[in-house]
Amino acid sequence: MKKAHLAFCVALVSLVGMNQFARAADPTHPDQPSVAPAEAISKLKEGNGRYTSGNLQHPGQTTERRSEVTKSQHPFAVIVSCSDSRVPPEIVFDQGLGDLFIFRVAGNVIDDHGLGSIEYAVDHLNVRLIVVLGHQSCGAVQAAKETIAAKGKAPGHIESLVTAIKPAVEATAKDDLDTTIKANVKHVVQALWSSTPILKAKVDSGELRVVGGYYSLDSGAVTFLDEK
Ligand SMILES: [Zn+2]
Repeated sequence: MKKAHLAFCVALVSLVGMNQFARAADPTHPDQPSVAPAEAISKLKEGNGRYTSGNLQHPGQTTERRSEVTKSQHPFAVIVSCSDSRVPPEIVFDQGLGDLFIFRVAGNVIDDHGLGSIEYAVDHLNVRLIVVLGHQSCGAVQAAKETIAAKGKAPGHIESLVTAIKPAVEATAKDDLDTTIKANVKHVVQALWSSTPILKAKVDSGELRVVGGYYSLDSGAVTFLDEK
């Protein structure tokens, strides 16, 4: 194949790809039905139930599924979770390729990159559920709590996490770690609810739900905290 012809093919494939992308962003397109928030929560609860009972199905991890999702992706939920190695969302919710759109960062907080990622999933991939997932014994929240209590400063860029978690720490200064972890989840949920221009409008219209969750390291169970 000559170079010019190859370039044309690449351009054509890109255009076709963009067209699919545009259709995926259109909630009214019959080929791209979005998953309603209540249904998405049910799917997560069912998956977590399989995980906690030791009946993992490992869905969507076949070569067929891998091939299927090369064309496009239609995740049914965004998960904002901690980087902690003990809380991998695909395993905790027993999901596979193309199911979950995940933003992970220590302390499950939001910055501009995280927000941009979430907005992409909501606005372009038509995802209608966001779960902010905190967890038992979160080291990031614990470090923030200890650093702020000591009026100290965390080393390097870890301080940026302390700053992000600070509102929850200050609101629960006299409480235990678990209470601060849940307050941090709530704080992030509220930040997403009120995030303009994309998320707030969709939350207000009922098109999008943002909920908090708490993962127990002991039991593997996810408890949903806030729903809107
Ligand atoms: Zn953590």
